[in-house]
Amino acid sequence: MHVLVMGAGVAGVTAAWRLLEDGHEVTVVERQAGAAAETSFANAGLVAPGHAFAWASPKAAKTLIKSLFLKDQPLRFRLSSEPAFWRWSLRFLAQCTSERARRNTRIKHRLCRYSQQALQAVADQTGIAYDGARRGVLYLHRSQATLDRGAANMQILKDAGQALEVVDRERAAAIDPALAPSKDKIAGAIYSPGDESGDACKFTRALAALCAERGARFRYDTTIRALDAAGGRIERVVTDRGDLVADAYMLACGSYSPLLAQTIGEQVAVYPVKGYSLTVPVDGANNPPTVGGIDEDHLCAYVRLGERVRATAVAEFAGYDTSHRPADFRSMLRSLEDLFPSGADYRRPQYWACLRPMTPEGTPILGRGRLANLHYNTGHGHMGWTMACGTARICADLIAGRTPELPLEGLTLR
Ligand SMILES: Cc1cc2nc3c(=O)[nH]c(=O)nc-3n(C[C@H](O)[C@H](O)[C@H](O)COP(=O)(O)OP(=O)(O)OC[C@H]3O[C@@H](n4cnc5c(N)ncnc54)[C@H](O)[C@@H]3O)c2cc1C
Repeated sequence: MHVLVMGAGVAGVTAAWRLLEDGHEVTVVERQAGAAAETSFANAGLVAPGHAFAWASPKAAKTLIKSLFLKDQPLRFRLSSEPAFWRWSLRFLAQCTSERARRNTRIKHRLCRYSQQALQAVADQTGIAYDGARRGVLYLHRSQATLDRGAANMQILKDAGQALEVVDRERAAAIDPALAPSKDKIAGAIYSPGDESGDACKFTRALAALCAERGARFRYDTTIRALDAAGGRIERVVTDRGDLVADAYMLACGSYSPLLAQTIGEQVAVYPVKGYSLTVPVDGANNPPTVGGIDEDHLCAYVRLGERVRATAVAEFAGYDTSHRPADFRSMLRSLEDLFPSGADYRRPQYWACLRPMTPEGTPILGRGRLANLHYNTGHGHMGWTMACGTARICADLIAGRTPELPLEGLTLR
């Protein structure tokens, strides 16, 4: 079968790899000049089933409303006149009950665990070098009160079989010795020894190169304008470089998937939630973090990627705007420097902003909608690097007519 994958981010490329493994002919269409040039370019790099919480929760609803009135918050909710924004926000609020939060977290965690194993299998099979580190992740808490709350919240993941340990500041500094000089700034951490980290962009680009070696065609610099359907099937994909035809089509365009789905009259509840990412070189500095983590009180994630340290933060509702100013990075830089004062060369930051393709539930949309030969692989939100190899497997199973290894509950078009 000839499958046309739309989008060469981590979701599209991992799916292309899996489809080639199944013996399909694969074409990938991407508007950028190469793979992983949008959201998969500079994310926090954490592969973190130990943090697979749904964003929508009773607390999130209150935080969203508060953020309307406060400035410089890690969560920046802004009202918009767009109907898509209101549809998404109302659906998000409907997920903010304790019961929905528990259900969504369980489904998300199950997918993240499955996907981590799938990522490890692809990494081991291909030997791709992606600055990977399998040393766990530390979720740091500055005060005893937030540590206690974090410990209570993590119970749902522990009950689902995730190894998680509450550690005091001494043990946190033993796990990551780079924390030793600043350990008095934290009360302790939740340590997830099974979590890991790595550069999603390096991984995706190397995997795209391997896909091309195995015969996949990559059509870069090609923008998809619309999908064209007739008789319950996609007939062709309309691009700025002509029409493309295949037997099956996979939509993996991240935050832009709903705009393309709209051209065939299908509504996909994915909305862009902007995040900011800052990368600094390690050189010259002598004490960079050795284990990835999150400064939970400032909602700032950080990771060591070879000779670089990266921090990411902020969830902002700004539509499709990806612009950024140095001021947007001030608070995450403060958090990083505070924890790792000599962690990297903070005078040479590289700034980036991109859009998390969020669903209200926090779980992606996989498989078919109304049309027989259109498969969704989108809406990976804030955990697409963690989830991509697992969602690739599930989508390939569905295209091949196999029953996926995971139940599809909560993972289909809704
Ligand atoms: C600040 C930040 C930190 C994050 N940290 C983590 C983390 O630590 N761990 C984790 O697991 N996840 C993390 N994520 C989430 C993760 O990065 C995303 O979920 C993931 O990159 C989404 O991948 P994707 O392939 O769906 O989208 P993308 O990478 O955006 O790929 C979609 C592709 O489709 C292409 N495209 C779109 N429209 C068209 C069109 N019309 N025609 C042709 N091509 C088109 C785009 O150019 C793009 O290349 C983070 C995200 C952000 C923003």
